[in-house]
Amino acid sequence: MAGRKRILTGDRPTGRMHLGNYIGSMKNRVRLQDEYECYFLIADLHMLTTRPEKAHIEALRENIREMVLDYLAVGIDPSRSTVYLQSAVHAVYEMNLFFEMLVTLPRVARLPSIKDMARAANMDDEAIPFGLVGYPVLQAADILMPRAHLVPVGKDNEAHVEVTREIARRFNHYYGEVFPVPDAMIGEVPTLVGTDGQAKMGKSLENAIYLSDDAGTVEKRVRGMYTDPRRVRADIPGTVEGNPVFIYHDAFNPNREEVEDLKARYREGKVGDVEVKGKLARALNAFLDPVRDRRQRFAEDRGYVEEVLYEGTLRVQRVADETLRTMKAAMGLTGIWNRISRRARKRMERE
Ligand code: ATP
Ligand code: MG
Repeated sequence: MAGRKRILTGDRPTGRMHLGNYIGSMKNRVRLQDEYECYFLIADLHMLTTRPEKAHIEALRENIREMVLDYLAVGIDPSRSTVYLQSAVHAVYEMNLFFEMLVTLPRVARLPSIKDMARAANMDDEAIPFGLVGYPVLQAADILMPRAHLVPVGKDNEAHVEVTREIARRFNHYYGEVFPVPDAMIGEVPTLVGTDGQAKMGKSLENAIYLSDDAGTVEKRVRGMYTDPRRVRADIPGTVEGNPVFIYHDAFNPNREEVEDLKARYREGKVGDVEVKGKLARALNAFLDPVRDRRQRFAEDRGYVEEVLYEGTLRVQRVADETLRTMKAAMGLTGIWNRISRRARKRMERE
């Protein structure tokens, strides 16, 4: 279908996808597949910003496969959406370089997310690589590559999309209207807390419930979840607001009546954690059962994941080359090179 607006978003292949990734971004991706032309990237270059070592690159093969299976399992459909591997799209490396000229160093260095990522990777400020400061610029290259209009992301990525918007505006201002200024679309839960009560569930933080966890693992992780720490006994009134167990209930338990009843009794000190968590595990497993089934089916189809990525990446390479050509033409770079080659060829012919 021609003329549809475009979506771009993606994930770092640092591990399997979790409930936070789903509620923050994937759910919107699945929902908008028909309305938009969708591009979903496996951001392996972005992984290198905090994990450049060979061992991490070696782990990519497995992580990429698991992530594509997670995509397919939640309903991302390769016949409607394009899934691709970032590092195989070379035009993006070039776009990244041009965009680096359109943003100031303090603008990106000040972003709290850069320091958060460094901290999560056990780096102190002095050890932050140049490339990690460039994270949002590379992200701008990803987003502007298909000239996307909409970027479904979690709250932690909102500030990055703002950088993309500024870069797009500056490019258009200098060189003419080439890029739409894309909007971020934040998920139903902007940042899902971790099972440990930390502000953010993360692939690399060991506080996640993964989409591929089996039922027993989900139960175990829910049993170990952080709740209201002041509530040492079931008959003590507890706080529902900001309590991870209830945040998850709100996000994943479709039985509103059950959730409201649990909340009311929790506030009055009339329900034990065992019941609250038991019902949560049941709701999560009901949500994950069909996801696990689909995942299993796709996993058994040998070579399917690779075919999805291969076809998607080839498609994106063409889109990216086209955007890069348009960019360079708008910048006047193509004209300079063409003129040099024309004159050189003419002279060589005369000799
Ligand atoms: P890592 O810990 O390696 O950074 P991650 O879990 O943060 O992994 P990303 O690949 O960085 O995952 O992010 C993928 C998408 O999921 C992004 O749009 C991000 O904003 C969103 N996201 C990540 N964690 C959460 C969360 N806890 N709640 C809501 N959205 C999230
Ligand atoms: Mg992250």
